[in-house]
Amino acid sequence: MPNIPADRLSYLVLLAARAMGSSEAEAQDVADHLVAANLSGHDSHGVGMLPDYVRLLHAGLLVPNQTLALVVDTGGVLVFDAARGFGQAMAKEAMRRGIERARATGSVAVALRNSAHIGRIGHWVEQCAAAGMVSVHFVNVADHAPLQAPFGCSDARLGTNPFAAGVPDAEGQPLVLDMATSTIAFGKARVARNKGVPVPAGALIDEHGRPTTDPTTYVDTRRGALLAFGAHKGSGLAILCEVLGAAMTGGATIAPHHERKDGILNSMLSFILDASALGDTTHIAREAAAVGEWVKASPPAPGFDEILLPGEPEQRARERRLADGVPIDDRSLADIRAAIASLGVSEAELDRALGR
Ligand code: NAD
Repeated sequence: MPNIPADRLSYLVLLAARAMGSSEAEAQDVADHLVAANLSGHDSHGVGMLPDYVRLLHAGLLVPNQTLALVVDTGGVLVFDAARGFGQAMAKEAMRRGIERARATGSVAVALRNSAHIGRIGHWVEQCAAAGMVSVHFVNVADHAPLQAPFGCSDARLGTNPFAAGVPDAEGQPLVLDMATSTIAFGKARVARNKGVPVPAGALIDEHGRPTTDPTTYVDTRRGALLAFGAHKGSGLAILCEVLGAAMTGGATIAPHHERKDGILNSMLSFILDASALGDTTHIAREAAAVGEWVKASPPAPGFDEILLPGEPEQRARERRLADGVPIDDRSLADIRAAIASLGVSEAELDRALGR
């Protein structure tokens, strides 16, 4: 299976989103986001999400062309309800308005609740960083069965609740920490299942709470659970993502009194801070760069070739994949094509989009 160039993948997503009923602007947001996730190396959050999105659309659990509703504006706090709108458009607009406010006041807390999947959270860090903003994001995942076992649990009680934070950099390469609080994201287990490869040891337990590396049963039936990263510490962060991301924003939590419709609802609490409000940005950038250089100067430990900073693997993947295209395995591509075809797009049109 040859790699697919990014512009062809974008066109494929545009076809899908238009057929789902999205406006041209929304379709573009979805395409930009999903392809950027693939380019940054996160196939779990790229175009491989399309079959899920089409399923959610058919079930009425994802609503194209939703208008982001401003529910609260205290000046320093903005609360938005996305009412299951396309997360790629809803989160982009929430961040845009948060950045605008932080530029005027120095900082803002933005609550975005009940959005359909908002994808790779690093994308929102990067949107903030490109505008000169520091940002911190706590996110929950609700409306479907829990996927992650917190520390000491033998079954899943939480979603994979991502946390992300980042700082802008004078040279345009922001420091971006962006991670699921489970050892691996669910989509990575899906990609491993599709490729027929094991997940890393310590990432998964089976339905009896025993360690396993075979993702098949878990991905196909959701029996078993991903483990929280970093034992009690990652587990604690995952619980904070649930409480800050959803309980505090008025979003749906994963607590069982919320009906689970097998959708994907993300709620996110973001703190956005104008870096220039903290002081001289040249000094800040110089100190941040010095910290990075100091860390990277350590002799690599056995088994490591070099030391990378948060966000570096994604930057490198971007450079590589922009040049060489994005590898999409056959099973994922077949699933994506079938999902788009179910919206009435012809096989010939899909072939044309892929340049075949
Ligand atoms: P990951 O483990 O690949 O990376 C996590 C972080 O570690 C990144 O900031 C990365 O730059 C850094 N990193 C990776 N390898 C490194 C190395 N060798 N040295 C130094 N730093 C390194 O990411 P993940 O936890 O698998 O998450 C994947 C994606 O899934 C994220 O983009 C996350 O936002 C997304 N996600 C989204 C949802 C949702 O519901 N929207 C849920 C869960 C996860």
